[in-house]
Amino acid sequence: MIELPVAGTRETCRLNPSKIIALGLNYRDHIADEVMKDMNGHTREQPKEPVLFAMTPNVLIGPGEEIVIPAFLDDYGFDELRIDYEGELALIIKDRCRNLRPEEVYGHILGFTCFNDVSCRNIQKTDPSGWFRGKSLDTFGPAGPEIVPLERLGDPQALDIETRVNGAAVQKSNTAMMLFTIPELVSFISRQFTLEAGDLISTGTPGGVGPLHPGDIVEVEISGIGTLVNGVRKEKG
Ligand code: MG
Repeated sequence: MIELPVAGTRETCRLNPSKIIALGLNYRDHIADEVMKDMNGHTREQPKEPVLFAMTPNVLIGPGEEIVIPAFLDDYGFDELRIDYEGELALIIKDRCRNLRPEEVYGHILGFTCFNDVSCRNIQKTDPSGWFRGKSLDTFGPAGPEIVPLERLGDPQALDIETRVNGAAVQKSNTAMMLFTIPELVSFISRQFTLEAGDLISTGTPGGVGPLHPGDIVEVEISGIGTLVNGVRKEKG
């Protein structure tokens, strides 16, 4: 559970989602990212429908909290441990809804925020069940710094998005580059799962994903929302 301010109000919103649903491969240039080669179930084709996966709410941390690389990963002896950042635009559902038509989607969104879909590529690649475990480790879902309602944000499909590691820009795109738009993808999701107030949907990452290491500072900045800043540390074994 995390608590984030709601922009333009004195209110905060407690985020304790019944589910977190994320989009895989929703920007064309990310499909071509080198690390996505040989990824479980991934062929470099553009997906015909939104690619969904779930992560568990234990991933959530707020702005300024640390991403913790778990000690148990050492037991695997990976040649190269890959814990990657993925800067993304996320949205929070306002009320229980299902079977939404695309034109109804924005009426059911509480607001938007920055999200970092931190991913352990090693496990994401090898786990027979798919992406779940490599995406759901504790602290692997920083969100914030604020929740911005649609009426303050303007067009969510025209936002600059940039990820920086130790101040250097590593991902630079615009939400106009999404393959499936927010109305399309939320409509698709709502036809399969009843959405509840507080559910979080993350809309996928642009190209340029890469590794994080202990001591790094990672920032996800989205125009109209702000900058989500988190440090990275290693868990003591
Ligand atoms: Mg992602």
